[in-house]
Amino acid sequence: MDVIVIGGGIAGVATAYQLRAAGHRVCVVERHATVAQGATYGHGGTVLPTPLDVWFGPTFMANRQNAKNGVINKPGFNGPARQFVKKLAELQEPDEFGRQYRLLRPLIELSREAMADMEARFGFEFEQASGLLYLVRSAQEWQQLQPALGLLALYEVPHHVLSPAECAAYEHSVRTEPEFAGGVLFEHERTANCPLFTKLLKQTLDTQGGVQFMLGCEVSAIRLDGQRAAVELAPRPGAASRSREVDVIHADAIVVAGGYGSLALLERLGLALPLHPLRVHTLVAPIAHEECAPHVAIVDAIKRIGISRMNHRLRIAGGAVLQGANLIEKPLGEALTKEALALLGQATHDWIPGAARISAALPWEGIKLLSPDGLPVVGNALHPRIFVNVGHGPAGWGLACGAGKLIADLVVGQAPDLPDETLAALRVDRFQ
Ligand SMILES: Cc1cc2nc3c(=O)[nH]c(=O)nc-3n(C[C@H](O)[C@H](O)[C@H](O)COP(=O)(O)OP(=O)(O)OC[C@H]3O[C@@H](n4cnc5c(N)ncnc54)[C@H](O)[C@@H]3O)c2cc1C
Repeated sequence: MDVIVIGGGIAGVATAYQLRAAGHRVCVVERHATVAQGATYGHGGTVLPTPLDVWFGPTFMANRQNAKNGVINKPGFNGPARQFVKKLAELQEPDEFGRQYRLLRPLIELSREAMADMEARFGFEFEQASGLLYLVRSAQEWQQLQPALGLLALYEVPHHVLSPAECAAYEHSVRTEPEFAGGVLFEHERTANCPLFTKLLKQTLDTQGGVQFMLGCEVSAIRLDGQRAAVELAPRPGAASRSREVDVIHADAIVVAGGYGSLALLERLGLALPLHPLRVHTLVAPIAHEECAPHVAIVDAIKRIGISRMNHRLRIAGGAVLQGANLIEKPLGEALTKEALALLGQATHDWIPGAARISAALPWEGIKLLSPDGLPVVGNALHPRIFVNVGHGPAGWGLACGAGKLIADLVVGQAPDLPDETLAALRVDRFQ
């Protein structure tokens, strides 16, 4: 088959890889001049989500105060944004949390296999580092973490629950004063460089052939013409328009994997997905004092701020801002940006003082799509030829790789290696 993939982030490139591996001819259309320029660029480092990483459940936005949650609410929420927050809050109930995680887990495992397979085949080096230490401040927050610890035990996820003294003994850079509640160590989970991984995968596809990357091209619309589908390309900026004809590429199937940009394309086809765009920040800071720098990644478990070391720098990610979706394309404003970045600097100072030179850090912000039930949207949509792979949320890297495999199965009508209840929970029509 000829398949067009819209989007050159990790979701699009991983999907292209799986489609090519299944024998299809693939064309990836990306509006930027290269791949991994959207949410994928700002990625915090965590490869696969544990129950402590998913952005739903008892610890997510459990507190009314922005600073304690690590999620800032921009004043002036509109109706749909309130609705979104309300839906997500339902998953704070421990049974609901457990049910959603159970549905997500098979996709996490499929993703783990998909990534291991790619690494084994190509021997990619993308700054992988083992070990994540999640730290919790107060006894109350430790209590909120219990359902997640219950899921770790239930699914036999290898981990260690550590006292503050054990955290500091394992990771010398963690400070013990003021007192904190404790930590959870995942020795075998990893952090790495997602944009680098995405670029290595693209290079491999370039070398192997069979995947064409149309870079600097924007899809302006998707067309459904009977048995085939097509995309219309927007005129390139500055190109002299000699004719009124639109560039159109036809294909047997189209996969929409354009991150936030997917929403507008699907809306034009009449599909309004209730995914919410969330603005998230990163700081990339030089190491200040080598003796204070952590050798494993540190995660502020409640504020969802991850600090991972990449060579001589620390990548600090989090500081989400919730606002009306209609405002997302406008600049956030200096005060709120400062507030979000301050959360990142403060968490770094709180847990590993002296490790990072925050004053010399480079800030970045990106938009990721979060669904009201915390699960990505992966499946067929609207027409037998259209597939969607979006909404992987803040724990999206690894998931996007497994979701690519799922899409490759669905395109040819092959039964995916996932339980039916998970497939149903990922489908586009679950929101109807
Ligand atoms: C600050 C930050 C930190 C994060 N930290 C982590 C983490 O630690 N662990 C984790 O697992 N996940 C993390 N994530 C989430 C993860 O990065 C995303 O889930 C993932 O990158 C989404 O990939 P994507 O390909 O769906 O989207 P994107 O990377 O946004 O890619 C979509 C691409 O589609 C292109 N596109 C859109 N519309 C069109 C169009 N019409 N025509 C052509 N091209 C189009 C865009 O230009 C873009 O390149 C983080 C995200 C952010 C922003």
